[in-house]
Amino acid sequence: MLNYTRKMDSDEADATNRTAESGDSPDRDRAAVARRVERLSSHLNPPPELFINGGLAVAPCAARAKKIEVDKDRLSAYMRGKYRDVQQGVYDYFNSRPELQTPLEISKDDHRELCMRQLMGLVREAGIRPFRYIVDEPAKYFAILEAVGGVDMSLGIKMGVQYSLWGGSVLNLGTKKHRDKYFEGIDNVEYPGCFAMTELHHGSNVQGLQTVATFDPFTDEFIIDTPNDGAIKWWIGNAAVHGKFATVFAKLVLPTHDTKGVSDMGVHAFIVPIRDMKTHNTLPGVEIHDCGHKVGLNGVDNGALKFHSVRIPRDNLLNRFGDVSRDGKYTSTLPSINKRFAATLGELVGGRVGLAYSSVGVLKISVIIAVRYSLLRHQFGPPKQPEISILDYQSQQHKLMPMLASSYAFHFATLHLVDKYSEMKKSHDEELVGDVHTLSAGLKAYVTSYTAKSLSVCREACGGHGYAAVNRFGSLRNDHDIFQTFEGDNTVLLQQVAGYLLKQYQEKFQGGTLTVTWNYLRESMNSYLSQPNPVTARWEGEDHLRDPKFQLDAFRYRTSRLLQSVAVRLRKHTKNLGSFGAWNRCLNHLLTLAESHIETVILAKFIDSVRSCPDSGSRDALKLLCDLYALDRIWNDIGTYRNVDYVAPNKAKAIHKLTELLSFQVKNVSKELVDAFDIPDYVTRAPIGMQATEEAYSHYTQFAGF
Ligand SMILES: Cc1cc2nc3c(=O)[nH]c(=O)nc-3n(C[C@H](O)[C@H](O)[C@H](O)COP(=O)(O)OP(=O)(O)OC[C@H]3O[C@@H](n4cnc5c(N)ncnc54)[C@H](O)[C@@H]3O)c2cc1C
Repeated sequence: MLNYTRKMDSDEADATNRTAESGDSPDRDRAAVARRVERLSSHLNPPPELFINGGLAVAPCAARAKKIEVDKDRLSAYMRGKYRDVQQGVYDYFNSRPELQTPLEISKDDHRELCMRQLMGLVREAGIRPFRYIVDEPAKYFAILEAVGGVDMSLGIKMGVQYSLWGGSVLNLGTKKHRDKYFEGIDNVEYPGCFAMTELHHGSNVQGLQTVATFDPFTDEFIIDTPNDGAIKWWIGNAAVHGKFATVFAKLVLPTHDTKGVSDMGVHAFIVPIRDMKTHNTLPGVEIHDCGHKVGLNGVDNGALKFHSVRIPRDNLLNRFGDVSRDGKYTSTLPSINKRFAATLGELVGGRVGLAYSSVGVLKISVIIAVRYSLLRHQFGPPKQPEISILDYQSQQHKLMPMLASSYAFHFATLHLVDKYSEMKKSHDEELVGDVHTLSAGLKAYVTSYTAKSLSVCREACGGHGYAAVNRFGSLRNDHDIFQTFEGDNTVLLQQVAGYLLKQYQEKFQGGTLTVTWNYLRESMNSYLSQPNPVTARWEGEDHLRDPKFQLDAFRYRTSRLLQSVAVRLRKHTKNLGSFGAWNRCLNHLLTLAESHIETVILAKFIDSVRSCPDSGSRDALKLLCDLYALDRIWNDIGTYRNVDYVAPNKAKAIHKLTELLSFQVKNVSKELVDAFDIPDYVTRAPIGMQATEEAYSHYTQFAGF
């Protein structure tokens, strides 16, 4: 292994050999140190001759590049806002308790137990009690969740199951009596619980659930039944080992006096005890199985639940949106099954908000590791000159810099989502509920898909060392992958965004008011309906391309065009195929529309965040990132813009060149930009990526047992 280390660090080996020949030990040390310092500083500030004509492809960019001064502490303070301290509390706690940090090699069973101890430690020892923030200060709750997920994603999900899902269902779907009875036990983890919605045969289609809760007026109880094996609750977090309760989603069935005998009132949520509080034995009528070893998140004990006529008191119906009286009468403020269903699911968007937010946290960790590694890693170089940092390769910049820009973009977009969500929790404004539902669905789908792809890119960007488990990409990728599926499959969620856009388009476009998020559509629809301006289509100056108005107009134009064209297509196909068939015929178009809209919202929020930044150095850095985010997305979809001559050929070329230049400029401050995420080293624990190479290699080789 030592030979291997030397091979990777050949100029240092040369230096050592030369001074060893002179036989002067202190001089030799000094020379080695001087070379090391020079070498390390060259990683961050490559000598200009590397970029002279005929050298690397970035040559033309370098001449125009001006280095921005970034104060990482100020930038970090702006990013983190007021929740920096609570996140630091999480990081400090686990840093001070190495025995609670998840080792690289751990069995499923040990990981589950460790995860439970981590959660208990956080709540009972460190005194970090996230549950109370779910209602009072959701932004704080999500900040804790992000930090916890950085320590071990299984712990983040376990915490999410306990507080967002099980706890959230009690708080949001129940009433005061439920809060009074369960709050404390959920908060201090005396009542570990589950959220049992998904069944073996129905995941995305929640209205198709088959579990039944029948009211028995003689005993004043509900009887919970799994009518067939397809209705077994499946994948339920906390069920296999730790859960004592489950919020079970089931069709509420009431006896009637007509010929049918019963009436189906739609899906409702019920608190069902599944294990004995003292002995922890499974309760009568409840059958629990283990979903076994998973691709990732093995610290979470997912299980399957089957119910055989399990009786629960009438009070265990979470009755905020519908209730059953002692004599079996149903009451609700909402007039239909569909409205009640929408209200119920609407209250559960918190889990989705948390996933979007945490996924950005994962993206940041991944980008930090890849960028730091790329700055330090040297391969090849001009003839007879030192090897250069791999981040000086244009291809590496192309892989990582737009990703770094996206991490910032998503950071601000998810902060905005959290603000909207908090506002909705206070006001319960109906329009805001719809807005947050759609925004959370869209951002969750878009961000988690982006992060999942980026994890592979980052792994590959770190070469073979990216494949070492110690560098985290494997566990991050495996643990995060399912973010694309749970809390709503991404393809299904994007369709909800498209559906909501079309609804707005159809209902309100003709003079009605659009909610704030969608307001841009009216204006850009007008510009879309007129021909693209042939003069602006040719403008290619840097000032114009970096003008937020040009960038936002381009994003909005694309969304409006997709919306208008899909509406026309849907109308046409509905005649022959019916609405379901027409929707399916246009499905890919609809998904592109949803993504385009979400990218537009993200850009708008990024632009706002740049403008609001009080520190000029940080603002310059954010502006650079924002421009890169916008132009990279436009370039990725340049075909769309070219097809309709929104962008002329010369402008397309200018956009491409500028994107490369901006990537290069971001690279020059990439160290500060990843440092500003302010995630502690032990979380981004990539020894080869985060420390000076020698120290890193020694850590790495020690880890590998040399
Ligand atoms: C690790 C893990 C933990 C989980 N934890 C919980 C939990 O605690 N509680 C809980 O209730 N559930 C939990 N789940 C279940 C999870 O929420 C579901 O898996 C998820 O909702 C997707 O449902 P499904 O698996 O049935 O997928 P499906 O809906 O069958 O989807 C399969 C594929 O079909 C596609 N598809 C489906 N419908 C459409 C459509 N209309 N249009 C286009 N494509 C479509 C999807 O895009 C997807 O690619 C968990 C799952 C896992 C793996």
